[in-house]
Amino acid sequence: MRKSKFVKLKLRHASFISRALLSTRHPVLAHLIPMRRCNLACGYCNEYDHTSSPVPLDVIKRRLDKLADLGTSIVTISGGEPMMHPELDDIIHHIRQRGMIAGLISNGYYFTPERIKRLNKAGLEHLQISIDNVEPDAVSRKSLRVLDKKLRYLSEYADFHVNINSVIGGGIKNPEDALSVARRAVELKFSTTVGVIHDNDGTLKPLSTKEKDVFQQVKKLGNKDHARLNWFQDSIAEGKPYQWRCRAGARYLYICEDGLVHWCSQQRGYPGIPLEDYTMADFDREYNTEKWCAPTCTLQCVHQVGILDNWRDPQQAPGLTKPESSLKDTIHEVLRAE
Ligand code: SF4
Ligand code: SF4
Repeated sequence: MRKSKFVKLKLRHASFISRALLSTRHPVLAHLIPMRRCNLACGYCNEYDHTSSPVPLDVIKRRLDKLADLGTSIVTISGGEPMMHPELDDIIHHIRQRGMIAGLISNGYYFTPERIKRLNKAGLEHLQISIDNVEPDAVSRKSLRVLDKKLRYLSEYADFHVNINSVIGGGIKNPEDALSVARRAVELKFSTTVGVIHDNDGTLKPLSTKEKDVFQQVKKLGNKDHARLNWFQDSIAEGKPYQWRCRAGARYLYICEDGLVHWCSQQRGYPGIPLEDYTMADFDREYNTEKWCAPTCTLQCVHQVGILDNWRDPQQAPGLTKPESSLKDTIHEVLRAE
């Protein structure tokens, strides 16, 4: 990424952070899904299919306009594999035209020099690729060996910030793979982060001694600011719950391919309201609603957004934040979520 563009991006971040600290009444980050389809089939993933069509560009633009009208600071395009959407460049361009920061989460398979140059031109500002292992296996083909050539292309041609995320825990066979991934990221001058994940059955279990050692080493290689923002991971690594205020449905929004607002990828169905009908009353309700899944949550980006408001506005258990008269709506939402 060019130095001048990097400085500009840093300044925009600073201005968005100050705005978020001064006012609680706008979304900071939205994840938008332009298609559910993916070219891979990772064993742990519940966020893809192999058949769905891309959401039409005009529909996506309307969703982006609504996010801009709500005052959203950052829109990150996710999936499925968003690089499979034929109009991804137009989507990114529209995010920028509406004054929001444009991010992308991808499995990295589709990056070629030509494709990267088009993303530069569209105005992409952030890219995150998660790499799960060094050699592909039955669970994941998001592997350093397969993706290294793509990373070299990115290092040479990308005029946007690239972050490489590795993972640890969850029964991943070789914890030291996370270290190999992080070292390669640093070599190529990318930033690097590490995600601590649960066991396959979703339970919190402390990392093994070896995993903890790798976790600490990878954290040292990574972005210091990021490590400071992710102190919840130390609790998760110890198998302990972490108390925080998840502001999903308000400061963080997850918009699925059907245009519904959900708390996040792991809590789809809540509140499950169409984005076009989403009001500041919905925003306020979700901002003030305590999420039962918060103590064991490992979603880094929602934690980071939560830090902006962790010190203010205590939340209430679901149900207490709605007037009595809306009990019917609550039941309807729960049933719809089922
Ligand atoms: S690449 Fe991403 S979206 Fe696709 S199956 Fe793997 S984790 Fe899921
Ligand atoms: S706590 Fe985590 S899992 Fe629960 S709604 Fe928030 S982001 Fe989603």
